[in-house]
Amino acid sequence: MAGQEYLQSLLRTHRYDIDDLLQVPVGMDKTVWLYEHMRQICIELGWYIVEMHRECTETGCPMMRANEDTYFCAGHGHPKPCSAIGYSVHTVNYAIGQLNNQGSFPSRLYVPETSMKHFQSMARRIYRIFAHAYFHHREIFEVQENATFLYARFVKLARKYELSPESLIIIPELPTTISADDADF
Ligand SMILES: [Zn+2]
Ligand SMILES: [Zn+2]
Repeated sequence: MAGQEYLQSLLRTHRYDIDDLLQVPVGMDKTVWLYEHMRQICIELGWYIVEMHRECTETGCPMMRANEDTYFCAGHGHPKPCSAIGYSVHTVNYAIGQLNNQGSFPSRLYVPETSMKHFQSMARRIYRIFAHAYFHHREIFEVQENATFLYARFVKLARKYELSPESLIIIPELPTTISADDADF
C-alpha cells in the first residue's frame, strides 16, 4: 500500500502541482505509478459523480452523451445504453473491478505489459465522464475542477502514458478555470 499512501500524502500538499504529482518516485516502476494514479482517480471520481448527480439525472440525461456523441456503457458484460449518471457509476465500478483483478494486476510492484491495454480502455471511458460534465453540466465541471484539478491531472496522465488518442480529447485545452501556469498540458 506504500504507493497509495505516498500519492495521497502528495495530494494533500501538492494537489495543484500536476507535474510533481506525476513525477515517478525514485525506485518505483513508472507503470506502478500509473496504477496508483488510476486507482486514486477512480476514488475521487466517486465523489465527483455524487456532485454531478445533483444536476445529472436519469430523466434529464437518459443517455451518455458528450457533445454530439452518444456512448454505450460497457459495465454490463455486453455494451448497452445507460443514463449518463448510470454510465458514470458503472464505468468507475468497472475500472475499480479491473484494477482489483488479480489476473490483470497480480502485484503492486509491477504491471504486466499485457495489462497496459486495461488502462487504455478505462481511460477512454473515464474521459467521457469528464466530457459529459464539461459539455452538459459546465458549472459543475468548473466548480469541481477549480477545487480538485482532477480533470487536469487525469488528462495529463493520459497523455504522459499515451492512454488516449489525441482525437478523443475533446475538452478544449484551456478550461476557463485553470490558470495559464497550470495549463501547459
Ligand atoms: Zn448529465
Ligand atoms: Zn451501465
